[in-house]
Amino acid sequence: MYNEQFEKEKFKASVKDSVKNLFRKTIDEASPLQIFQAVAYAVKDVIIDNWLETQKGFEEEDPKFLYYLSMEFLMGRALGNNLVNLRAYTEVKESLEELGIDINLIEDMEPDAALGNGGLGRLAACFLDSLATLGYPAYGCGIRYHYGMFKQKIENGYQTEVPDYWLEHGNPFELKMSEQAKIVKFGGYVRIATDMNGRTRFIQEGYQSVRAVPYDMPITGYGNRFVNTLRIWDAEAITSFQLDSFDKGDYQKAVEQENLARIICEVLYPNDNHYAGKELRLKQQYFFISASVQTAIEKYKSTHEEIRKFYEKATFQLNDTHPTVAVPELMRILMDEEGLNWDEAWEVTTKTCAYTNHTIMSEALEKWPIELFSRLLPRIYQIVEEINRRFILEIQQRYPNNQEKIKNMAIIYDGQVKMAHLAIAAGYSVNGVAKLHTEILKKQTLKDFYEMMPDKFNNKTNGITQRRFLMHGNYLLADWITEHIGKEWIIDLPTINKIALYAEDEKAQQEFMNIKYKNKIRLAKYIKEHNQIEIDPRSIFDVQVKRLHEYKRQLLNILHIMHLYNQIKENPDMEFYPRTFIFGAKAAAGYQRAKLTIKLINSVADVVNNDQSIHNKIKIVFIEDYRVSIAEWIFAAADVSEQISTASKEASGTSNMKFMLNGALTLGTMDGANVEIVEEVGSENAFIFGLSSDEVIQYENEGGYNPMDIFNNDQDIRKVLIQLINGFYCPENPELFREIYNSLLNTNSSERADTFFILKDFKAYAQAQRAVEAAYRNEKGWAKSAMLNTACAGKFTSDRTIQQYVDEIWHLDKVILRQK
Ligand SMILES: *Cc1c(COP(=O)(O)O)cnc(C)c1O
Repeated sequence: MYNEQFEKEKFKASVKDSVKNLFRKTIDEASPLQIFQAVAYAVKDVIIDNWLETQKGFEEEDPKFLYYLSMEFLMGRALGNNLVNLRAYTEVKESLEELGIDINLIEDMEPDAALGNGGLGRLAACFLDSLATLGYPAYGCGIRYHYGMFKQKIENGYQTEVPDYWLEHGNPFELKMSEQAKIVKFGGYVRIATDMNGRTRFIQEGYQSVRAVPYDMPITGYGNRFVNTLRIWDAEAITSFQLDSFDKGDYQKAVEQENLARIICEVLYPNDNHYAGKELRLKQQYFFISASVQTAIEKYKSTHEEIRKFYEKATFQLNDTHPTVAVPELMRILMDEEGLNWDEAWEVTTKTCAYTNHTIMSEALEKWPIELFSRLLPRIYQIVEEINRRFILEIQQRYPNNQEKIKNMAIIYDGQVKMAHLAIAAGYSVNGVAKLHTEILKKQTLKDFYEMMPDKFNNKTNGITQRRFLMHGNYLLADWITEHIGKEWIIDLPTINKIALYAEDEKAQQEFMNIKYKNKIRLAKYIKEHNQIEIDPRSIFDVQVKRLHEYKRQLLNILHIMHLYNQIKENPDMEFYPRTFIFGAKAAAGYQRAKLTIKLINSVADVVNNDQSIHNKIKIVFIEDYRVSIAEWIFAAADVSEQISTASKEASGTSNMKFMLNGALTLGTMDGANVEIVEEVGSENAFIFGLSSDEVIQYENEGGYNPMDIFNNDQDIRKVLIQLINGFYCPENPELFREIYNSLLNTNSSERADTFFILKDFKAYAQAQRAVEAAYRNEKGWAKSAMLNTACAGKFTSDRTIQQYVDEIWHLDKVILRQK
């Protein structure tokens, strides 16, 4: 297809121009990084025209806007994705070839925008892609962290963290919008005054303030010239002579304000599914929320009179509890600045805010000490207190004399502000992220809330964008699919089901598996280059890539590999299909047990990979610095998708969907969206094992189980565990892995033994792994299953998720740009 915006000669001239203007060089003199930047500017040039056109469309139609409020946007690289969505990838690739430039090399120069930890941040990024592709007006609102997710280096098998200064060479796609800066105030106290009309006024005084400056990134839709905006906020100091008259001459405060501005956007907290409770984190939350809510109000007021109808033109989706201060901040602006009374402001707020829950794990629940919260946000705290007072009255009316209900649902309790309770009390929608997760919320975690307000609760099973995770990451398969069924799947993924017609066609099977093979070669080359490990692309690529967390059970995977190695050593002639186990995972910097698990994986890899006697039957690879850009290649190359979380703990998972779309078979527990994956593809095309979520929850209610029984009775497990403490994988320090050994067996600590049921599920996992091997030996059977996984992945597009949010929560209208 021809894209007039990327006419080749014109585009080449534009790139040459950019190189000249940016670097005073010709193409031949420019470095790959400089060419990347020049290409990016040339592409941004085209995007900006579409961006302007979209803005014009908004002005004409006055649509309702979604504000997707999220502390994290794990965007990855922008260039390739923008080219895919502009339908210009091939033209640009060929244009660059004509200039003697390899597009892969150029794409590889772009740093990942890693403004997120893992699944939650990547979900936000996929949602933005789908919103733009479907033509829904939306702003992503977040923070312009100067240092995104840390870069991971593996040194002597240990993770070390290196700062990720992704902005070092500038960000060619962003636009700084200084004129739209907002002031955000922290601390001080609230003075109560009466104005001329006899109304009580709440005035924050003695505060520190920072200037929030927005940087806008274009979010291109696929093939529709539609461009939404990701607005990320940076902090700048308000220089001393601009201080309020109250502050003039207060040197100490001027310095403190400057320091606050300097640190607030510095770094993303690297905790996934874990609450840290740091003061700076709450500052970050209020900083970007206040700026975003101010912007939404200002934008609405620029074309509308009646602030009481704000919710007709704006809706806020809170991505987890992190943005929940949006509730009291909206109340504050509506009352203190717009003059609404409490009931009017509450009506607007509760028709504007909606909340997505991402986890049932108590370690992740945000609770702020009152002392900290009220000191940092004195006016906001007053409002939360009043919300809490009224909410408790409601509980008492519904459940007279029931202290238990108040204890379970109060927003402020035991000296803490509970953000989830605030989000549920104020939100017009509360959603979980997969069917099973939503059911657990309703029946267990949020049972009391569900009983009191059942209509708020709903499910929105997560999704992923096929544009990035198939078209861009696996263009060989994407092209093959298009050749067979046409290109409808790009914007209507369920039509990919037509591929099922070819699942038994031997030629199609061979072509499909040949593409998988080529993708395995591509990954093997990367691994050779980065890990100096030779892997065989004919071996089974068995992959677990995700944040390192005990509940995700990378430990179960590596203990099982240790067991396989033992078996091969004891019985060298046993049948064994060669396997390459691939891991990729960052551990939170302070999560010692997770970091030790990385060391264990690398220690086992060292021994196994270098044992000539096993004839390369097992290879273990730990991919350093797992991130979106390398993830795209990993999914394309995977045969087996490890989704082995303790049932009930993984709210949804999304890498499970990316693997499935790329034709990998799931080896997993009945957890999160795995349940729905099996529903779609059939249990004969996946490998399911282990405790159910009901069983896990039952054991937990009984105080756990006794892993000693397993240790004493299962010789295979016993042998593996002993190898953790006898120096087998670490002769220089035999005690190194004792901590892990203890976590599985020892009951003399305060912690339950084997909290995540690793030993309990071990046997079932080993059996499922044997089934994987048997299935892989049947080439045609495997090819059929792989193709059916791709064919049945239609449900898991984020386009479907977004359409459901629109239909059932947000009620947005599409803005369709007139064809030029
Ligand atoms: C999809 C994705 C995740 C989420 O993976 P899960 O296995 O669902 O936890 C994390 N990190 C990156 C880079 C991803 O692309």
